[in-house]
Amino acid sequence: MKRRRVAVLGGGMTGSVLSLHAKRLNAGEITLFERADILGGLHKSPEVDGFPYDIGAFFFSPDHPVFRIFPGLIDHFVEFDLRVRTVTEGGKQDRYPLSISGYRKNHGSLTMLRAGASILWNKWANRTRDTLPAICRYYVGDVIYMGGGLKNYIERLYSLHDHEIDPLFATKRMAKLVDLAGFRNRFATSLRDAWKPRKHAVALARPRAGFQHMYAVIECALTAEGVDVRTEANVQGIEKDERGFLVSTDRKTERFDAVVSTIPVPVTARLIDIPIHQRFETVSLLTLFYSFEGDPGFDAEVMSNFSNSGRWKRMIDFSGPYGRSHELHRISVEIPLAPHSGPVDIQAAHRDFMASAHSLGLLVDGDIELLGHHLTPHAYPIYRTDAVADLERDKQAISDWGILLCGRQGAFDYVSSAAAAANAIAMAERLARDAATALTPSNRWRPSHS
Ligand SMILES: Cc1cc2nc3c(=O)[nH]c(=O)nc-3n(C[C@H](O)[C@H](O)[C@H](O)COP(=O)(O)OP(=O)(O)OC[C@H]3O[C@@H](n4cnc5c(N)ncnc54)[C@H](O)[C@@H]3O)c2cc1C
Repeated sequence: MKRRRVAVLGGGMTGSVLSLHAKRLNAGEITLFERADILGGLHKSPEVDGFPYDIGAFFFSPDHPVFRIFPGLIDHFVEFDLRVRTVTEGGKQDRYPLSISGYRKNHGSLTMLRAGASILWNKWANRTRDTLPAICRYYVGDVIYMGGGLKNYIERLYSLHDHEIDPLFATKRMAKLVDLAGFRNRFATSLRDAWKPRKHAVALARPRAGFQHMYAVIECALTAEGVDVRTEANVQGIEKDERGFLVSTDRKTERFDAVVSTIPVPVTARLIDIPIHQRFETVSLLTLFYSFEGDPGFDAEVMSNFSNSGRWKRMIDFSGPYGRSHELHRISVEIPLAPHSGPVDIQAAHRDFMASAHSLGLLVDGDIELLGHHLTPHAYPIYRTDAVADLERDKQAISDWGILLCGRQGAFDYVSSAAAAANAIAMAERLARDAATALTPSNRWRPSHS
């Protein structure tokens, strides 16, 4: 019997995990199309001054699903103690996103009492949790939300006021905050910390040579298990007829029984030639790459900006897992850029970052050099309150046409790479179920014709 053929568009984290898991589950013959010459997508490590920097985060939790699907991969990672901190007004530092002891130390017992009273009041005042500010206030209270810097952080991320951001953002990105702020969790954490104080979390950093090494290992594993990996294969069109889908690259057109797209939603819509009504707005990200010789003024791998100053969101010091190179700290700084914010002025961004860092007591004591930068378009999906319903309708129209959507850009889903991998596993399982159903003669599968 002819094997069912599945096309997976896009070879980032989602496409890679999905392809191998689907192949192992006998979901069919899998072809993975990636337009770049290597797999990896948003995971990239541009080399600057002989050092592989990253555009975003470089660390993974040991229970990241990618290690389950590619078991040999973990041997290429570097284990280290991850310290994630925040800096707030006046250069006060705390554990990310905040800790009770840090808050008391930074703000004093009186403010701490006010914060406690504000949490209790907001549990009642914002019990409906129907807007993003209401959700934040419900969990951390007004005093911490405004004074602790969370509001600054969220508004900087999106360049929008908090009331313009849909509560969907909280569902996607604030699980950790909700976890921390829940009474039961807070009680359990306090007990555990009292018993055995927690300083760091063990994490795994991507291979020393950069993400391209990680994805070279992934590509080998995919090929070894029979996934047909096509790099430099830019998908340019998809059509359908009663026998399935016709997927065209610049080289050829091939027939498939199912197509999963992990590439940006508007691109998928263009490929199948259906109109979409909503703008799929995204934040672009400017990453600045620095070397720093001296005492950076913080003792962490990740420092998030919860203060009012500067446009930067997060700073990453690569010295923790990889050591210093030539006595230098290698530091990257992420700066979100609002849609339509015009041409990027690198020197202005650098000056803005330096002024902010110095005002917060960071990177004061030493010599810093800006070595390069990278611009990432479509780094984060934007969920505006007035757009979410239309975005869902547009995605549904593509699904109704017959394309399965998955991934950070593929489903316009603001997820971490771990969540992207978990969703990819679920999609592979769905493909396997579809394949099993299609094999029964009475249920022969056909694409829908709308
Ligand atoms: C700046 C930044 C910081 C981040 N920080 C973190 C973090 O701290 N922690 C965390 O867990 N996650 C983080 N992430 C998220 C993580 O990188 C993503 O969740 C994950 O990499 C998404 O993978 P994906 O496969 O869904 O999408 P992508 O990586 O976008 O993959 C899509 C792929 O499709 C390909 N493609 C596009 N068009 C076509 C076409 N026409 N034909 C063929 N191929 C095509 C692209 O080249 C790309 O390889 C960050 C992301 C960014 C951008």
